Amino acid sequence: MVYETFSPEETYALGCEIGRTAAPGDVYALTGDLGVGKTVFTKGLAEGLGVAEPVTSPTFTIVQSYDSGRLPFHHFDVYRIEDIDEMEEIGYEDCFYGDGVSLVEWAEVIADLLPENTIRITIEKAPEKGFDYRRITVG
Ligand code: ADP
Ligand code: MG
Repeated sequence: MVYETFSPEETYALGCEIGRTAAPGDVYALTGDLGVGKTVFTKGLAEGLGVAEPVTSPTFTIVQSYDSGRLPFHHFDVYRIEDIDEMEEIGYEDCFYGDGVSLVEWAEVIADLLPENTIRITIEKAPEKGFDYRRITVG
């Protein structure tokens, strides 16, 4: 499924829509360059899950979990991971194979760890379509 958005608000709203339908055990793998909108999408998805706290980028902790929503939400940003063992140390398996919803920014960094049923989301710019244009491919 390919979506096109023309503002951060539209990308947020798409995340929100997906968050509303997210099911226990879902893993969302986000791929896309720095500044493309992965965190904007993530914040929308969190709102769709009913997460009440502000979602901030977990760059220095790798994962941040939120319990105020309809389902537990685990937000990973694995950009700085140098060794896959770091994922073991933070207990990623309890997140990916538990009853919550996981979302991974920079998912390509941990490609080998993603479950088979991972929902893949790619966000891309297309400069000829304008500064705020994004093409978002789901699945
Ligand atoms: P990432 O997490 O991929 O590094 P962010 O979500 O932190 O990126 O930042 C995306 C930036 O792009 C924000 O400054 C946002 O306002 C801007 N932006 C412009 N157009 C869009 C769009 N259509 N969708 C998402 N973000 C957009
Ligand atoms: Mg980000």
